[in-house]
Amino acid sequence: MTGFTTTILHNDRQSLIEHGSLHKPIHTSVTYGYDDAQDLFDVFQNKKSGYRYGRQGNPTITALEDKLTKMENGVASLCFASGMAAIGALPLALLKAGDHVISSAFLFGNTSNLWQTTADLGISVSYVDATKVENIAAALTLAPATRMVFVETIANPRTQVADLEKIGELCQARGILFVVDNTMTSPYLFHPKAVGAALSINSLTKVISGHGDVLGGCITDTGVFDWRKFPNIADNIQKQPVELWGISQLRAKAVRDFGACLSPEAAHHIAIGAETMALRIERQCSNTVQLTDMLAAHPNVSAVYYPGLKNHPEHPIATKLFSAYGSIFSFELKKSNAPDSNCIAFLNRLKIAISATHLGDNRTLIIPVAQTIFFEMGAERRAAMGISESLIRVSVGIEEPADLLTDFEHALEFN
Ligand SMILES: *Cc1c(COP(=O)(O)O)cnc(C)c1O
Repeated sequence: MTGFTTTILHNDRQSLIEHGSLHKPIHTSVTYGYDDAQDLFDVFQNKKSGYRYGRQGNPTITALEDKLTKMENGVASLCFASGMAAIGALPLALLKAGDHVISSAFLFGNTSNLWQTTADLGISVSYVDATKVENIAAALTLAPATRMVFVETIANPRTQVADLEKIGELCQARGILFVVDNTMTSPYLFHPKAVGAALSINSLTKVISGHGDVLGGCITDTGVFDWRKFPNIADNIQKQPVELWGISQLRAKAVRDFGACLSPEAAHHIAIGAETMALRIERQCSNTVQLTDMLAAHPNVSAVYYPGLKNHPEHPIATKLFSAYGSIFSFELKKSNAPDSNCIAFLNRLKIAISATHLGDNRTLIIPVAQTIFFEMGAERRAAMGISESLIRVSVGIEEPADLLTDFEHALEFN
């Protein structure tokens, strides 16, 4: 067993690559020819491994999936065109009308919107405060049957940390699929497998690729879930080894039939970005600690939300479970000093941090959320998610820490 970065850097070379190439080549072919027609039959009948058609798999994407499986210490991974395509695959491929889902109320905005669509299709969704396992337990139902519990590790943007260990225990005891969106922590800081999650989801657009130049998503099966307990697996999928039932059904229904596949060019970009992810994350996390310490003590700042701060309610669980606290935090400017126009003035005074959405990028990005990414859902739902109208989210990049501190200190000199 080699370390995280050594494994990512050398994984492609574990299988034969043409000409000794150090990268898996970008395979652009959509279809695959067989000299012996028997092989063609066998590949289509799952008797032999091989490629059929680009939508269902491609060697460049397989190489990336293999890296992601190793990063998550899982058994199999499946890549998608974006993180949302991966999350959207869950209800599409694994749930049926009449099923019930329990979701953390503290969610990435588009996931929250997606659950509204799911509810319209007859899969009911209950939202709970997932920082306490009791709330999940209270929401479990037999009819309709709760089939899936979905949480984010650190919620975007208010940084609530789900009660991961206890939710994992509850789901394992009840045979319920526990799905963790690991995007905010990444497999470098946390393995959902460690708390009994069945599936770990990562947006590859964020810190794993890291350069803001490619979209992608992934679901990894951690290997802890017994798929025989899950009633929604199709008969033909049950002919495969049981540990692959989940990923195989996701691949068939969400990637093959629905077409949410990643492109080989995108897979290549993501694989290159992933080589440096551990280095970038270390720098981002240490920058975030310095920036949040400065802001928490600043007279023009009224609140800072970051699991690394001792006054964060989930600081102890974050310390126990994650190897660092991530690079996303949110904060509020002092109200007396900062009506809306002052927020704009503050943002416009920043010279390095960029007013933009997105997170996990090399560059520091900052965005007030109620006016932008959480605008569509309205004030009532924002309040239920713990999002105040003046909340500002920051995704901290890899700039030199002194430059970031100076930039924020200068921009905060208002009154
Ligand atoms: C960005 C994000 C997603 C969606 O990923 P895309 O690749 O942008 O589709 C899902 N969950 C979380 C927590 C995210 O931050």
